[in-house]
Amino acid sequence: ATPAATMVGTTIGAQNGVLFKGGDVLERVRDVDTVVFDKTGTLTEGEMELTDVVAVGPRADGGSQLERADDLDEDGVLRLAASAERDSEHPLARAIVDGAEERGIDLVSPDSFENVPGHGVRATVEGRQVLVGNRRLLADHDVDVGPAEDVAERLESEGKTAMFLAVDGAVTGVLADADTVKETSKEAVTALRERGTDVWLVTGDNERTARAVAEQVGIDAEHVRAEVLPEDKSEAVESIQTDGRSVMMVGDGVNDAPALATAYVGVAIGSGTDVAIEAADVTLMRDDPTDVVRAIRISEGTLSKIK
Ligand code: ADP
Ligand code: MG
Repeated sequence: ATPAATMVGTTIGAQNGVLFKGGDVLERVRDVDTVVFDKTGTLTEGEMELTDVVAVGPRADGGSQLERADDLDEDGVLRLAASAERDSEHPLARAIVDGAEERGIDLVSPDSFENVPGHGVRATVEGRQVLVGNRRLLADHDVDVGPAEDVAERLESEGKTAMFLAVDGAVTGVLADADTVKETSKEAVTALRERGTDVWLVTGDNERTARAVAEQVGIDAEHVRAEVLPEDKSEAVESIQTDGRSVMMVGDGVNDAPALATAYVGVAIGSGTDVAIEAADVTLMRDDPTDVVRAIRISEGTLSKIK
């Protein structure tokens, strides 16, 4: 592009809350044929709310294997889970803690607490070994999620994120947080697909939840990469990028920075973290996925008019 075209493009971008980092970025944006969206905070609001607390185990199925967990009704499940999550900054954890406080449940300080990124938390609460997290977390601690699987699958097919509570080596509860899909996510995906752009979803969340969200916004099930660990997100982008595709990755979080750097074009959306903005080629000032389309239109428009 000529310096003039670059200047016009970056200026129009800035006026529209689309910040291009340098002139060659405009050309790369024009050539994008694939857009990969992060889920949480990008296609969804990223504001979790606790929607379900379910006790499983002896009370639910009449068995008596879990003697120490006998007192765990719904409030007991929520109390232990929220106490374990008390010191976690993860949005899923904040929703559990807020949910407990709203229900007037008093939390206790965990005796020990450890964050397990991409999995959940491990804590000692009132002398009990407590896990709150996904299937992988429980599997890594040899806890069978079987008794809770039906409940979790039902919640996940509603697009919620289900989390398991394990106490002293046995699953005793399921909690679910729900996030809201952004109002304009579907419009953005539709416009990209009309342009002939492939659209993908990459997330650390589980397959069923990811697919439910993908369906809501119009992304095909075969274009969903779920249960991607934070450190593997850039590898996921790379694998989509392999057959010569020019991939734009759109994300908001710290987790996304390496993937943004790996992609042909990295886009940080909304109030995005400093790390994400640093790694990105384009920063969208607003929190609106249709600005991805706007960015592409600006680059196409200015580069075709001024040669
Ligand atoms: P995302 O890509 O959606 O930001 P993460 O990589 O942070 O997700 O986490 C992936 C999954 O690990 C979550 O969907 C959740 O199942 C589980 N998880 C992570 N942190 C926590 C936590 N503090 N409490 C419960 N579950 C968690
Ligand atoms: Mg995110």
